[in-house]
Amino acid sequence: MSGTIPDLLRAPIPAFSFEFFPPKSDAAEDQLWEAVRRVEQVRPAFVSVTYGAGGSTQDRTVRITERISQETQLVALGHLTCVNASVADLRAVIGQYAAAGVHDILALRGDPPGGDLQAAWHAHPDGLVYAEELVALITELGDFTVGVAAFPDVHPESPTAAHDIDVLVRKADAGASFAVTQMVFDADTYLRLRDAVAARRDLPITPGLMPVTNYRQIARMAELMGTPLPEAVIARVQPLADDGPALRAEGVAIATELGERMLAEGAPGLHFITMNRSTATLEVLRNLTGQEPGDLLEGFAAPSSSLGPVSAPRPTHRCPDGTLRQVTGGWRFCPWCGAAFGCSAHRSAPPAGAGGAVTTDERA
Ligand SMILES: Cc1cc2nc3c(=O)[nH]c(=O)nc-3n(C[C@H](O)[C@H](O)[C@H](O)COP(=O)(O)OP(=O)(O)OC[C@H]3O[C@@H](n4cnc5c(N)ncnc54)[C@H](O)[C@@H]3O)c2cc1C
Repeated sequence: MSGTIPDLLRAPIPAFSFEFFPPKSDAAEDQLWEAVRRVEQVRPAFVSVTYGAGGSTQDRTVRITERISQETQLVALGHLTCVNASVADLRAVIGQYAAAGVHDILALRGDPPGGDLQAAWHAHPDGLVYAEELVALITELGDFTVGVAAFPDVHPESPTAAHDIDVLVRKADAGASFAVTQMVFDADTYLRLRDAVAARRDLPITPGLMPVTNYRQIARMAELMGTPLPEAVIARVQPLADDGPALRAEGVAIATELGERMLAEGAPGLHFITMNRSTATLEVLRNLTGQEPGDLLEGFAAPSSSLGPVSAPRPTHRCPDGTLRQVTGGWRFCPWCGAAFGCSAHRSAPPAGAGGAVTTDERA
């Protein structure tokens, strides 16, 4: 078993990942790198940077993704959309990703340019219409691992949930080997989609999770995405809209509850949407992994003068068969041999029947 993203998503322990967006200024980019640096310390399965519609934003996405791949220990998942792109343009970006060592690509159709997500989407005259075609293009071009988007609350342009499931099956048949969902606020919608797809294809689907830290921002995002916040969530966060600390605490609590439920029901991991500030998501992660409060504080306390990502040594672990593995993700057990990790953050017993080597892993 190798350590590809789908492998990590099939491992018996949750694979956590983090999503950033391309910053618009140098100052915002400093903030992004600080967040990346914090996240690097918790050894996620992968991180990704969203892909905008404009040329300069796209360049930033590709440049930052390349830098994450080359200068950190993180696995970088490159987002790519069909928006405003001919097939030749898409081939060029795929080539750029490959040259930078980015072999994991999230193949997306993309949203209509201009910020109006309700606007009609038009393909480039020499481009692609559906993400499914981009999946096929990427897989045809080389040895890539391709992920796709999934929509537990039904994509705004889809007529039915059943249609969305058919689309995911088509994307799997075109070569996608995992999916990541739009942000989830109702665990049941995720579980329904996950189970319906599982009945037809072996496609791990990781739920997207974003703690509410700014009520108006998230309500607007949810509305634009066509997936309004559930009443139960609104009832908890709307009254706190003007009380930043209380809202943040409630947002972290809600995300923790959702994450707990979905992981307990067998979600392969969680994909945290960070808005380039990692602290709330790291707090959720800390709540979920049961680590002692101190275990992640080092991550929270990254120096504000940080200019770029650090390259912490990736922890290694020797399985009983003698193979040296690089360990990543929020793991309490080795996904290959099942050994429990020996540091204070990994106290639980290995799964039944697992091998027993004590490891050198020290995921913070
Ligand atoms: C995890 C995640 C990350 C994202 N990252 C980005 C990003 O970086 N940049 C960005 O611009 N957007 C991003 N998005 C948003 C996404 O691009 C939009 O939601 C877009 O509208 C749909 O993209 P898709 O890849 O699902 O498209 P598709 O799978 O092509 O689906 C688009 C619509 O067409 C329908 N459809 C698809 N295939 C067929 C078919 N064969 N026949 C008939 N109908 C079909 C679908 O049901 C859907 O309604 C992301 C979404 C998610 C969930």
